[in-house]
Amino acid sequence: MTTITADLNNLSTEKASPKKKVPLKGMMNNVMEQFYKAADHIDLHPNIRKILSITNNEIIVNFPVKMDNGEVEIFTGYRVQHNNALGPYKGGLRYHPTVDIDAARALAMWMTWKTSLAGLPYGGAKGGIQLDPSKYSQNELERITRRFTFALADNIGPEHDIPAPDVNTNSQTMAWIADTYMSTRPPAERTANQHVVTGKPEGSGGLEGRDRATGYGVFLNIKFWAEKNNKTLKGKKFIVQGFGNVGYWAAYFMEKEGAKLVAVQDAYGSIRSANGINVEDLYNYTKLNNGSISGFPDAFDLDNEKFFVTECDICIPAALGNQITKENASKIKANLIAEGANGPMNVEGEKILLNRGVTIIPDILCNSGGVVGSYFEWLQNRNGELWHLDEVMAKLDKKIRESFNKVFHYAEKEGMDLRTAAYCIAITRIEKAYIQRGIFP
Ligand code: NAD
Repeated sequence: MTTITADLNNLSTEKASPKKKVPLKGMMNNVMEQFYKAADHIDLHPNIRKILSITNNEIIVNFPVKMDNGEVEIFTGYRVQHNNALGPYKGGLRYHPTVDIDAARALAMWMTWKTSLAGLPYGGAKGGIQLDPSKYSQNELERITRRFTFALADNIGPEHDIPAPDVNTNSQTMAWIADTYMSTRPPAERTANQHVVTGKPEGSGGLEGRDRATGYGVFLNIKFWAEKNNKTLKGKKFIVQGFGNVGYWAAYFMEKEGAKLVAVQDAYGSIRSANGINVEDLYNYTKLNNGSISGFPDAFDLDNEKFFVTECDICIPAALGNQITKENASKIKANLIAEGANGPMNVEGEKILLNRGVTIIPDILCNSGGVVGSYFEWLQNRNGELWHLDEVMAKLDKKIRESFNKVFHYAEKEGMDLRTAAYCIAITRIEKAYIQRGIFP
């Protein structure tokens, strides 16, 4: 690097040498491997590599909540703020038994790359509570969410750290957070704090279209990839893992474009139908079946291990991390994998797929429609505006197209996979901000 400012160069390079590598597990291992690969490629300044290798803040809160039976239960909540060089921290809150500090760290780092790649004025954060929400009543979930918000206190804020929905959290969860946060501000400041979270219900400052933004973005990425390859999505078979917010909306737009959903998996089981599964029928079925796809009458049950092996053209993982590994990567039939979920494949799984010539549209590009939609909601609240659905969808289209083209052309120019290209672009933007600003003091 030749353009580094004095501040960065004055940091001793001895200090900048990487620490002894501690073996990392799970998603953390993936995100760091992906980061190092791109950092090596762009010859990232060692001091900035050091900064981006660690998280800025890690907040762990233990808080008591009264249960319906009168007992008190203690919960542990996390918020990891990875980096804010480009703007306030931004990222979802997840309620799931797998939430822990390592998962939150990895997911927070992915958010930093995602917001940077999308060209947004945000950094990256993630958090949540380690719990299985199906074990709690709606009233208990409300009290858990409100007490978690209270415990986080000023560690979140509309110009500091802005949570959003993720696995097992939704617009209702965001409404409770916004209400609790606003209720704890001085009266004259309450409404000015509405943008403390995004993904709120439309009646409470939410953005029309935020519900479908992530799935729509997944679909757009697939469509843009097809256009670049002179392919049509009409008649293409696709499978979706996870039929929640992201999986459902991605499937909805794919079906609208003429593609055929042939298998679905969720937390309860897997189903398949070579004739195609009607997306709206399945969605309506899950609403009457506790959110589960199991037993859908117009499809056959499928063994969970056989899901990824299903004959198809496109695979959309839209559930949890580390689902595609060396155990199943060689058996996947799709020639395109569009990552709706964050970190759905590990490094070994990806290597196998890339060697087989499978294209992977990486999470930080593929599911970025969500955070772009969140940015629109934040702007709408901040400026006291109300945007219409068609306006939102057109703006999303433009933003995702720009990101897709940037990544596609970078990958072509450098002869690399789309993930490494996306990381290179994202990290270069953050590096530039550090170069311009230097290190305080
Ligand atoms: P959701 O809670 O709405 O849905 C999750 C789905 O995954 C459900 O259908 C659930 O049954 C299924 N699932 C859970 N465990 C599973 C398992 N072991 N095997 C198969 N399916 C399983 O969550 P969501 O908001 O749709 O998020 C899904 C993924 O997309 C997550 O990785 C999340 O981080 C990512 N994401 C979400 C958004 C967003 O705006 N919601 C944005 C970007 C990325």
